[in-house]
Parts: sequence; structure tokens; C-alpha cells
Amino acid sequence: MQEQGTISIHTENIFPIIKKFLYSDNEIFLRELVSNAVDATQKIKRLASLGQFKGTLGDLRVQVAVDKASKTITISDNGLGMTAEEIKKYINQIAFSGATEFVEKFKEAKDASEIIGRFGLGFYSAFMVANLVEIDSLSFQDGAAPAHWSCDGSTEYTINEGTRQERGTTITLHINEESEEFLEEQKLQSILDKYCKFLPVTIQFGTRTESIEDGEDAAGKKQWKEVEVDNIINNTTPIWTKAPSELKDEDYLNFYRELYPFSEDPLFWIHLNVDYPFNLTGVLYFPKLKPDFELQRNKIKLYSRQVFITDDVKDIVPEFLMLLHGVIDSPDIPLNVSRSFLQADGAVKKINNYITKKVADKLQELFKNDRKAYESKWTDIGLFVKYGIISDQKFAEKANDFALLNNTEGAFFTTKEYREKVSPLQTDKDGNVVLLYTNDLAKNDAFIQAAAKRSYDVLLMNTPLDNHFISHLEQHLEKVHFRRVDADVMDRLIPKEDAIPSVLNEEQLGSVKEIFGKAIDKPGMDVAVESLSTDELPVTVTMDEWMRRMKDMAALGGGGGMSFYGAMPDRYKVAVNANHPLIGKILACTDGTEKEKLAKQAFDLALLSQGMLTGAELTDFVHRSIDMIGVG
Ligand code: ADP
Repeated sequence: MQEQGTISIHTENIFPIIKKFLYSDNEIFLRELVSNAVDATQKIKRLASLGQFKGTLGDLRVQVAVDKASKTITISDNGLGMTAEEIKKYINQIAFSGATEFVEKFKEAKDASEIIGRFGLGFYSAFMVANLVEIDSLSFQDGAAPAHWSCDGSTEYTINEGTRQERGTTITLHINEESEEFLEEQKLQSILDKYCKFLPVTIQFGTRTESIEDGEDAAGKKQWKEVEVDNIINNTTPIWTKAPSELKDEDYLNFYRELYPFSEDPLFWIHLNVDYPFNLTGVLYFPKLKPDFELQRNKIKLYSRQVFITDDVKDIVPEFLMLLHGVIDSPDIPLNVSRSFLQADGAVKKINNYITKKVADKLQELFKNDRKAYESKWTDIGLFVKYGIISDQKFAEKANDFALLNNTEGAFFTTKEYREKVSPLQTDKDGNVVLLYTNDLAKNDAFIQAAAKRSYDVLLMNTPLDNHFISHLEQHLEKVHFRRVDADVMDRLIPKEDAIPSVLNEEQLGSVKEIFGKAIDKPGMDVAVESLSTDELPVTVTMDEWMRRMKDMAALGGGGGMSFYGAMPDRYKVAVNANHPLIGKILACTDGTEKEKLAKQAFDLALLSQGMLTGAELTDFVHRSIDMIGVG
């Protein structure tokens, strides 16, 4: 029997599409052919369970082999096989997907979804790497004759009777010159590791040698011998296919270590498992974040029925969870469509919402069940939570219950708890609760100590997201203002009713202003003489909260009007405390040069405590100080 024919192309043009992938992703030919082979073995299993195949199933597996000498790669399965008629029907008519028909036929069967193959380039991706492809197949059907098909990538094929003795199919690829890299065992092994590591049917790639014990010699010394064993590349039941109740912490940790061998253990994980209104399984891990967390993105792997698809899960996983690690497996994610379509896809949106909800629930549970442990992980978790709150309205609503603020003493509070804690002392004359914070313990030390003297509490807000987080909280909490601890002198940071009387009269205040006006010849300094508490420093340099925030935002690259603030020169307020004894002393000084020297010294001390004294000004200060000690 020999027959010549022409491959009929139902879709207008499949080859250009295949060619499009030629240079970028040609390694996926292996994923496609192995997936087809896996499908074929699952189909025969299914037919057996339906009583439509009565023979022995045998050890169902897919074998991949490479022969460098003959420049071939073969993919063999002992699945259901194909008759010559079926090859003509399924392979020659490219647009006709046998999988579709099969699913149609066994629609009632519950696990028809096991059948991979409704995506990908399918069989024809073989021509990305081969200039001749052969199929040898023997169908499971009683009395079926073996069939042999070959095609050189043109639309011409040959089909004749084959020689295959066992049920199943072997695909032989005669690798073309440009693709000889695929004849390297290591290359194939790495592709199989990438795409096929968790396929549901055993995948064997040749053999490897292993040392096994071989008794003892006369002296009782253990003997070893080398044996050849099957090189199985996959784990057919990865943890995400199991029920959470079957798994222990150690299983999750081991799986994590298998996926990310060079990473520290994760903080905790979430097992995803839903089958309505879409199908999704997976395990997401919260990693310990590194300072270079940008590099840790794209660590989530997307699978479809245990076949690896991509590690670009943008759009499927909410943006703020892109730093998570782990696996998502969903047959419902459309894989062959463009990214823009994916964004608009209803299933994808639902998946996105589901993941957000799951993550929020998990955090809530951790917080409730073991608050201490949750707090100890806050440095890492906080970043996700804050980012989630800022970027995702739905998440923000839930996160109020478990988003934490931590103060300079290392204590943690929910926003509600914190408000209650500080409002007795930190409510201003207009009834606003003022939350004080620092982003730098060392730099703001003078101010933090001044706040402590008044029993004010100070929050530590030193993560990259805190500026945004603060704005968000102010927008959503009523009558709450945040002010950085160095935004003003303590008396005014939280303005209270009672005015502080001045120990100086009008004329004296005028002289103080003049002295300091002269002593401070630095641009951007607005000097004001004020009656402050005696526990305030004699001179304090501050930048207005609002002004500083605008500048911070501009520095972070906020667009639009922000660049205006960025370009503005820095302006500071210099508060001279008329009630401080040092100011009285300066005023009383009769020597004009000495007077100016003291004023300069007081101002420099203020700059120094803000870390703003540098360069020649600092050198000047040092010399002046030595001089004033009296040994200069
Ligand atoms: P798809 O897998 O998307 O249906 P393919 O081009 O990969 O498209 O395969 C077409 C059809 O050929 C499959 O649906 C299946 O019916 C049949 N087929 C391919 N490979 C095998 C195989 N190894 N064993 C049995 N049938 C196969």
C-alpha cells in the first residue's frame, strides 16, 4: 500500500505562524510533541476505564531519545496510537484538532480536562527543527494495521503501511542543520526540565548510570557496581495537584527548594485550589525579600495541566503580588492569545481577584492566629501589604485589619490601635490626631528625643513605599495627619491651645532677629524668632512637611506638576527660641563679634543635629569650636 496526498490546510495559513516562532521559541517543539504523547497515554487509560479498551495498559510512559549519529530525536509513547485513516484525519488536516473531537465525544466524562493539547502549535511545530518528520503508529483498535507517515515540511506527505509491533506512536524528527544544538543531550535535558518536569505521565529520557551496593569483598569491604537506570525527568504528582490536607509543611518547603534551589526558605505559602467558576490550582510562596527585589520578579511559573507555559504571569497575578514565588496551574487561561486580549479576558480578571482574596485571607488568618509570628515577619510582609493597599482598592478594604504600623521602640499596632494609643496626647487644637514619624532614626535623633520628652510616640516609616502609604492613610482615615518628626519645632508639630509667653519684650525680639539675620548668610533660610518651651533647642532648622513631601515625590520621579517642586530651591525654617537661656545670653553679650560668633554657633549646632552641616561650613564650625573652648 502506498498513497500520495496533499495536506489540506483549513486555516488559511498555519506555516507562517509556525515560522514566526522559528527563531524565538523553537524549543517548544518538544513540549508540544511530548504533550501529544502524554495525551495519547491518558486517552488509552480513559478508554480502558470506560471499558472501550480491554487489553493490558502496560507501563504507560513517554520516551524521548536522541541519536547524534543519525541526527534524529524520537518521541515514543504507548498511548492509543493512530490508524492510517486517523493520521490522515488528525495530522494532515491541520485545522482539525483531534483533541476537540475527543473532548466532544467524552464530554460527559469528568476528567476529559486531563487532555492537554488544545493549545500550542501542535504537531507541526516539529517542522521548526526538522526537515523530515516520520510517524510510526499502531492503533489500539482490534486488527489495526501499523501506519507510517512522512513529510518534509512541504504540503506533500507520504503514507504507507508501517512495521510497528506495539500499541502507540513514535515520532521521528530528522533535525535540520540550523537546529543541531538540539542533538546535544544536555540541551534536551534542560528543555525537558523546563517544560515537562511535572507532567502527569512518566517521561523517560534515555538512561543514566548509578552506583549501587554489590555485596562485600573477602575483607568485608562494601563493593559498588555501576548500573544503567531509566532517566526519569518528571514528578507526575507535584504538590499542587494534591489536597492541602495530604501535605505537611515540609512538603511545601521541599517543593520550594526544588523550584528555587538557591533561595532562602519562604516565610509562608498559600495553596490555591478552586474549580468554580474557573479552574485553578497552585501554591504561592511569600519569599524573604532581598534589597534588590526588582530582580526577584517573574518567579511565578504558569502551568496548564502540568505543562509549563511561561514565567511571565503579568496580568494573571495582581501587580502587587508579582514578587511572590510559586506555581499556578490553570487550563482556563487562554494561552495563545495576545497580551491585550488576556487583560480583557473575563477568566483572567476573576483569577486575579481570586488570588487577591486568597492572599488577603491568608494574611488575616496569620495575623489572627499568631500575631507575634506575624509581627516578626512584618518587614517582609509589610512591603506586599503596603503595595497592595496602595494599588488595589479591594485588597485595601480587607487589609485595614492586618496592616501594621511600627514605632521607634519596635512595637506594632494596627492603625485603629495606634490612633487610640496616641490620641490623648497627640490631638491638636483642631481635633486632628497627629501621627509623628521618622524615616531615619539616626538623622532625626534630636527630634525623636524631643518628642519622647513630651511622651509623644514616633513611628518608623523607612521603607521605599512609606511616602505613598502615608498619603493613602491620610486620605482614608478621618482627622489624621502624619508629620515627620523634624517638620517643625515640637511646640508646633502638634499645635495646642495654650500660647507660650515670651520672656523677651518686643524690642529684644527685634534685636535677636537682627543678630541672627546677620549671622546666617545661607540661602533658603527663613529666620523667625519665637516663644517656645524652654525644652526646645535654642535654634531649630526644619522643613515644612508638605514642602518636603512634594520634594520627595519629585525626587521619586512623580510626573506632571511634581517636577516644579523638584526644581524649587530648598527652603528651611530657622526657629530661634526666644525663651532659651542661650538666646538671653547672646542678647546680653556686649562684644559685637562675640555676639555674632555665638549666634553662628547656635545655628551651626541646629544644622549639625539635622546632618546638614558639611564641607567648608563644617570646617569653620570645628575651628570656631576649638577657638571657643579657649585653646585656639
Ligand atoms: P492538538 O494537539 O492541538 O490537537 P496537534 O497538531 O498537536 O494538535 O495534533 C493533532 C492530533 O493528532 C491530536 O489531537 C491527536 O488526535 C493526534 N495525535 C498527535 N500526536 C499523537 C500521538 N502521539 N498519539 C496519538 N495521537 C496523536
